[in-house]
Amino acid sequence: MSGPVVVEVPTGTAARAVFTTRAGGSSTGALAALNLSADRGDDDAVVRGNRTALCAALGIDPAGVAMARQVHGAGVREVGEGDDAGRFTGALRDWPASDALVTRVPGRALMVLGADCLPVLLWRRDGEGVAAAHAGWRGLVAGVVEGAVDALGTPGRTGAAIGPGIGPCCYPVSDEVRRRFADRFGAAVVRGDAVDLAAAARAALVAAGVDAAAVTTVDACTSCDAARFYSHRRDGEAAGRHAGVVWATGEAA
Ligand SMILES: [Zn+2]
Repeated sequence: MSGPVVVEVPTGTAARAVFTTRAGGSSTGALAALNLSADRGDDDAVVRGNRTALCAALGIDPAGVAMARQVHGAGVREVGEGDDAGRFTGALRDWPASDALVTRVPGRALMVLGADCLPVLLWRRDGEGVAAAHAGWRGLVAGVVEGAVDALGTPGRTGAAIGPGIGPCCYPVSDEVRRRFADRFGAAVVRGDAVDLAAAARAALVAAGVDAAAVTTVDACTSCDAARFYSHRRDGEAAGRHAGVVWATGEAA
């Protein structure tokens, strides 16, 4: 088996921001191959193996990875030294509910899962912390992205990466959702009968004070790109989950 295949966004500081693809893991069938969720019917041993392989490829300690029980809200949880230790490749479940995580502990990695919803990764350019948000349409409207920026602090010195998510090519939504997006993020995020989640996330970051030039968007539609990504809209309940991972390396920038 070849190792996990990831898309890394340069941060320009002592932090790393990585988006996983579905390539390079041991899950089979509809979950093939690098499914990182313990809640999609995959074998726990396979999920642990995928997570361990990812950590090895990234050079991070699995014992220090924190996740959340994602609920499509706007809650932010601060992860401190020792919180959740070992759960990532141990118990796998029972994470506290939230849709964003922030930490100021070097070496502690934050992971959010997605399969159409956007992983949004944040880092302070002074190296003093990182954050991650799971942002689908509900979370975006609820303000999860702005909440993560606020929790991290110093938005003017924050960098951000918007990961793979479902594109406006594949995401028709109800009149009600389109109206809420236009009201919240401006008419430009509505494209025909669809909404553009990445454009909305970018608007949310800028509204929260992040410099537009410090925001990178990974240009990939999870529904179009079945070879690289899981998609709930495309595959329904059978879909696995890829992830965004961010951590401060603790090295001098
Ligand atoms: Zn598409």
